[in-house]
Amino acid sequence: MSEATQIIAIDGPAGAGKSSAAKEVARRMNFSFLDTGAMYRAATWRAMRDAIDLDDPAALEASTRAMNLDMRENGDGVQVFVDGEDVSAAIRSPEVTALIYKLDQNSAVRRHLVELQRRYGEARPTVAEGRDIGTVVFPKAKCKIYLDASLDERAKRRAKQLEAQGAQPDMAALRRDIHERDEKTKNRKDSPLRQAGDAVRLDTTGMDFASVVETMLRLARERL
Ligand code: C5P
Repeated sequence: MSEATQIIAIDGPAGAGKSSAAKEVARRMNFSFLDTGAMYRAATWRAMRDAIDLDDPAALEASTRAMNLDMRENGDGVQVFVDGEDVSAAIRSPEVTALIYKLDQNSAVRRHLVELQRRYGEARPTVAEGRDIGTVVFPKAKCKIYLDASLDERAKRRAKQLEAQGAQPDMAALRRDIHERDEKTKNRKDSPLRQAGDAVRLDTTGMDFASVVETMLRLARERL
């Protein structure tokens, strides 16, 4: 990563509001937005489409490398295409979400996706969001923010999103799923979720969206 590369690295657990906040910061700063979770989701969706054995590391790597992934930014976010098919909604299904852990621990899969992420971020000023952006993908990023919130708050926010899509989420199940997903991400060997030493932690519990975005913009302007 060259000195001139402008990266805002956002990490944190599931449901901390990283995507919406990162997207808004990118829009306000006229930066690109890179949703790296969407890449792990897309690779999982593709392996499931092809009924690949998710416990076969070599098959997962081959499938991920063969994936033709196209992420197109539009006014409201990112559209994700895998092998020409728009999978933007499909990659967010509970079935895909439940199985990403099979793939996100595979070092060869991670290496390939990290390479794509670096290429993306090196080509243009970017707000990149995920779990290992400040620690692994862009360790030299000048602005790193670790977004966190209490488990209850994160479950409530996820429930609101699901309700807006017409679902009736079960709060207890949602809380358990988020907690389990975090534990898996924090305890995996390759690229565990953790706050980079030089990241600023922003606990968004009880903060409204506008204040989160304003705080992030201030940090970005100070550091870039
Ligand atoms: O951010 P999102 O919830 O869409 O990410 C989906 C999953 O992809 C995460 O729960 C995590 O397992 C994985 N992930 C990852 N590294 C990243 C981004 C996401 O392992 N940089």
